[in-house]
Amino acid sequence: MDNKFDVIIIGAGPGGIYSAYELMKQHADLKVAVFESGNPLEKRRCPIDGEKVKTCIGCPTCSIMSGFGGAGAFSDGKYNITNDFGGTLYEYVGRDKAIELMKYVDEINMTHGGEGTKLYSTAGSEFKKKCIQNKLTLLDASVRHLGTDKNYVVLQNMYNEMKDHVQFFFRTPIEKVEKTEDGYKVDFADGSASCKYCIISVGRSGSKWMQTVCDDLNIPTMATRVDLGVRVELPAVVFEDITKDLYEGKIVYRTQKFEDKVRTFCMNPHGAVVNENTNGIITVNGHSYEDQSLQTENTNFALLVSKHFSEPFKNSNEYGESIARLSNMLGGGVIVQRFGDLERGRRSNQKRIDEGTVRPTLKATPGDLSLVLPKRILDGIIEMIYALDKIAPGTANDDTLLYGVEVKFYNMEVAVNENLETEYPGLYVIGDGSGVTHSLSHASASGVYVARQIAEKNR
Ligand SMILES: Cc1cc2nc3c(=O)[nH]c(=O)nc-3n(C[C@H](O)[C@H](O)[C@H](O)COP(=O)(O)OP(=O)(O)OC[C@H]3O[C@@H](n4cnc5c(N)ncnc54)[C@H](O)[C@@H]3O)c2cc1C
Repeated sequence: MDNKFDVIIIGAGPGGIYSAYELMKQHADLKVAVFESGNPLEKRRCPIDGEKVKTCIGCPTCSIMSGFGGAGAFSDGKYNITNDFGGTLYEYVGRDKAIELMKYVDEINMTHGGEGTKLYSTAGSEFKKKCIQNKLTLLDASVRHLGTDKNYVVLQNMYNEMKDHVQFFFRTPIEKVEKTEDGYKVDFADGSASCKYCIISVGRSGSKWMQTVCDDLNIPTMATRVDLGVRVELPAVVFEDITKDLYEGKIVYRTQKFEDKVRTFCMNPHGAVVNENTNGIITVNGHSYEDQSLQTENTNFALLVSKHFSEPFKNSNEYGESIARLSNMLGGGVIVQRFGDLERGRRSNQKRIDEGTVRPTLKATPGDLSLVLPKRILDGIIEMIYALDKIAPGTANDDTLLYGVEVKFYNMEVAVNENLETEYPGLYVIGDGSGVTHSLSHASASGVYVARQIAEKNR
């Protein structure tokens, strides 16, 4: 191949895709390449079929996390337009600019297959008042719910529009990034390529590799946060008042005992609980479909507690991984427990799960989460379940299922300036891999932001 490009993008998740898309729109003459360790969209297939393969078999490249569309491809496609959560892009680009970029991303989604999907809003809702009255806080956001199926169509349409303008190299993990006299050189297994501008957008799955790049180039990093908790699954009707108007309520609770913050995360009305494989560690997540025929009778959401570490401990992700490994060691993967069993201090077994009124949507090992999660975190989660029970009666039902562990790993924060550029001119780090974003909308917006800068510099 002719291996000289104006711009090389590493990673074809939302950050990388929106960088490539915006470069194509703003400056069609620039020669752009995208290197992605995973497969093209249509070849991404998780082998779990619920019959022959019921749990994660640890594929060398996880189709859920890698490939065109990144970790977002089979996600629920919830694009939150807000500065309240999903990342801290606003700290770099300013609040108004961040919202403008997220709205722009929404417009692109709407013209690529997302048209007709609903935009939910929490502003001024009656439910907000009910939360406050019960010591809960509902965060403000507009939420576009594409659904896993429409999210896929949007990605497919964007790829089709880009494929004749942008060169995509799939199954080509970049091994090294080097500074050259006039730009950057990237190495892969059987060759290398060079460019003037390099955008690194490797997401969570690329976080360990990102650290090696920063070490090699002496770019400062910091890793201080990890979120730990469980995924809650209950009959959809219990949360219907919340989900029908808001789709997803981001609710925060401050515990009485430790004054820790526990929050709901990634709510999936009529959705399914799924395994997630991050670097060989199996954790839990959830998704849902816009297509009614694929919907379930349950709603799931995570309850997470943030842990922030300070000196001398510098690797918060290792802490999260150790706890996830512990659950994998005891349960061979994800553990499921009835809330009633947790409260009574006993392990769930298959019989009690089968006799329960909530039918699990994920095959997980019945077990005891109190042997896995630190007491302080578990106490906070239990307190919040009772608080939620006041606004959504039935949440604290004995049969409510808790899957564990859910870990939200935060990438270390890479030192970048207000342009999301490292101390090396022309080397940008964006999306979840930069530590600046933790969501589809923020990651995509960060891609648009740097693409516009590069286009501008080349006019
Ligand atoms: C099951 C699930 C559901 C989710 N649901 C939502 C949701 O509803 N709403 C929301 O806002 N967020 C959701 N998220 C999070 C969201 O998907 C991420 O925030 C988003 O994808 C981040 O985009 P990104 O481009 O920064 O990184 P990613 O999407 O992680 O993409 C990074 C890409 O880089 C590739 N890569 C890594 N290393 C290399 C390398 N060395 N060389 C080449 N390529 C490399 C990876 O294969 C990957 O494809 C969900 C995540 C999961 C896993």
